[in-house]
Amino acid sequence: RFITFEGIDGSGKSTQSQTLKAAIEATGQDVILTREPGGSPGAEEIRSLVLTGEPDRWSAETEILLFTASRRDHLEKTIEPALKAGTTIISDRFADSTRVYQGATRGDLRGKVDQLHALMIGREPDLTFIIDMDPEIALKRGLARNSGEDRFEDFGLPFQETLRHGFLSLAKSFPERCVLIDGNRAPDAIAADIATQYAART
Ligand code: C5P
Repeated sequence: RFITFEGIDGSGKSTQSQTLKAAIEATGQDVILTREPGGSPGAEEIRSLVLTGEPDRWSAETEILLFTASRRDHLEKTIEPALKAGTTIISDRFADSTRVYQGATRGDLRGKVDQLHALMIGREPDLTFIIDMDPEIALKRGLARNSGEDRFEDFGLPFQETLRHGFLSLAKSFPERCVLIDGNRAPDAIAADIATQYAART
């Protein structure tokens, strides 16, 4: 099974994906936790290209190509082999992030994002947890965590609001695999909710 976590910066995806990994492991199943951009040695190299440098280092078009290249390597080297071996794989972000982030900044490029996905990736997760939360709180968390190396994390509140709506409409577009999780709660309550939803869909 291929499970993904999506949401705006600071939404707690990373914490929740680690918690779900531990919960699945506790049942004796093999599970790998991975992330995007990154998740394989080559994709991690592309991650540092994408995330470092000046905000205008790459055009939106080049950025989409880099995210897709990184995803292709992640898919070939990490995701497909794990699924073939019968291992559950959890990814902190996947293609939905590109649909929302690059689609949100440049709505006119959404068609190209979809075309590239169809051409080069083609796989969708079996289950996607979208953690929805108030961008103001998420932004504070995101900034608190920001090392200063990530050229994306200082885009501000209006951008995070746009992303939130992007993720909400995505959940409506893919209702068969997307589960919306209320992230405005204590981490333990969110984790319990995710565990219940996961069990109901396994
Ligand atoms: O989730 P994580 O913090 O590791 O993501 C790294 C950064 O990359 C975030 O600031 C996120 O906003 C950005 N990103 C992006 N487009 C994507 C995926 C991530 O702008 N498709």
